[in-house]
Amino acid sequence: MTPEIDKLLQDPIVAAMARGEETSWFRSGDTPAAQALQRSGLDPELTLDARQRLHRFAPWFVKQFPETGSSHGILESPVHGIPQLQQELNRRLGATLPGELWLKRDDLLPVAGSIKARGGIHEVLEVAERFALDAGVIGPDDNYERFAEPDVREVMSQYGISVGSTGNLGLSVGITAAALGLQTTVHMSSDARSWKKALLRSHGVQVVEHPGDFTQAVAAGRAEAARDPKVHFVDDENSLALFAGYAASAQRLAGQLQGLEVTVDERHPLFVYLPCGVGGSPGGVTYGLKQVFGDAVYCFFAEPSNCPAVTLGARTGLHEQISAFDLGLTGATVADGLAVARPSGLVGRALAELIDGYCTVDDEKMLALTALLDETENIRVEPSATAGLLLPWRVNAATDFRAISGLSDEQLANSTHLVWSTGGSMVPATDMRSYLEQGREFLPQIS
Ligand SMILES: *Cc1c(COP(=O)(O)O)cnc(C)c1O
Repeated sequence: MTPEIDKLLQDPIVAAMARGEETSWFRSGDTPAAQALQRSGLDPELTLDARQRLHRFAPWFVKQFPETGSSHGILESPVHGIPQLQQELNRRLGATLPGELWLKRDDLLPVAGSIKARGGIHEVLEVAERFALDAGVIGPDDNYERFAEPDVREVMSQYGISVGSTGNLGLSVGITAAALGLQTTVHMSSDARSWKKALLRSHGVQVVEHPGDFTQAVAAGRAEAARDPKVHFVDDENSLALFAGYAASAQRLAGQLQGLEVTVDERHPLFVYLPCGVGGSPGGVTYGLKQVFGDAVYCFFAEPSNCPAVTLGARTGLHEQISAFDLGLTGATVADGLAVARPSGLVGRALAELIDGYCTVDDEKMLALTALLDETENIRVEPSATAGLLLPWRVNAATDFRAISGLSDEQLANSTHLVWSTGGSMVPATDMRSYLEQGREFLPQIS
């Protein structure tokens, strides 16, 4: 180990992370959300811009993906309570969670079956729109159904889009870009799930497999795209277009909660728990939620203990300059989408004063929670989607969080805990059975 790492290990949280243990820590500053949003340096308009773009493309979605017709081409997922799981976890953990447990079902998002259907798809649309406007085949007042017509598709076919992905980002970018007629390449590490590669190929996407770790797959994709001005590379570690697509979820969630008569204000805080890989999706959602709910919302990131990225970057202040590998961790995890060792520098820095807490979770627990969610609520998701499920209890038990937040018993009793379920509906039945079987064996760990 290098001397700098030795120094970092003097921090007990970093030392625990290096041992692969579960950790939790909370931001101690008390910058109000409005001020932190300003200091993020991000353009507040990016959220509205993304929402408007998604709206422009809605008619195209209806045409191209008929399953989106029931929402007139807007890709959205339901929110609902999970009271049986709440009760079961209260019993197993021997602690009653104040407030109500809810689940945001991004595992059900149409087209891509994961939260990546927000960011990944938005970036593809932004790029396609730019290509079409530049080529003059689309005008500002056109109905974007036009993207399904031969002359626009002909223009699209002259351009390419490429991305490096462990799986879900590739699915969302690949399926959408191929549907638009763009030449689409997805770079994956060779150990990525074979069903994801097969699915992409069935959509006409070129899948390039790279031996070695995922970072190399991304680097190869980036280098190839850099040589060709007609190819756009989706850069997971630095993309504002991805970020904006995630942020666009917040206003819609606010509407959903209002429709369910869930109050969110200073007296009724909202706690949101977000599985985190490179940080783009939880970061974008957090940014959007703070814009909408200000100081009434608290956002917590959940990462695998064996592969902390944003948690490590934020804790050390080194952001993208440090990776889980530097701590001697293998980075191996069952949680697809969270197997990212190096965080996005963009998110870590811009959101340092907005993210309220960082937690890491063992793989065995994610598997067990996958089984428990199925048993209690009959909901099947991929293990990464469960990373946030235990955090409401952890955050509530954390005396340091209580002290930092200054929340009263009454506020906690009025609180809403929303766990973001980030993926799962496209997992083939045999893979799902295997997750559930493994998970049942680990159930005793949830206690
Ligand atoms: C990608 C992904 C995440 C995390 O998103 P990041 O932008 O990488 O932080 C969480 N859950 C699932 C299922 C994912 O695919």
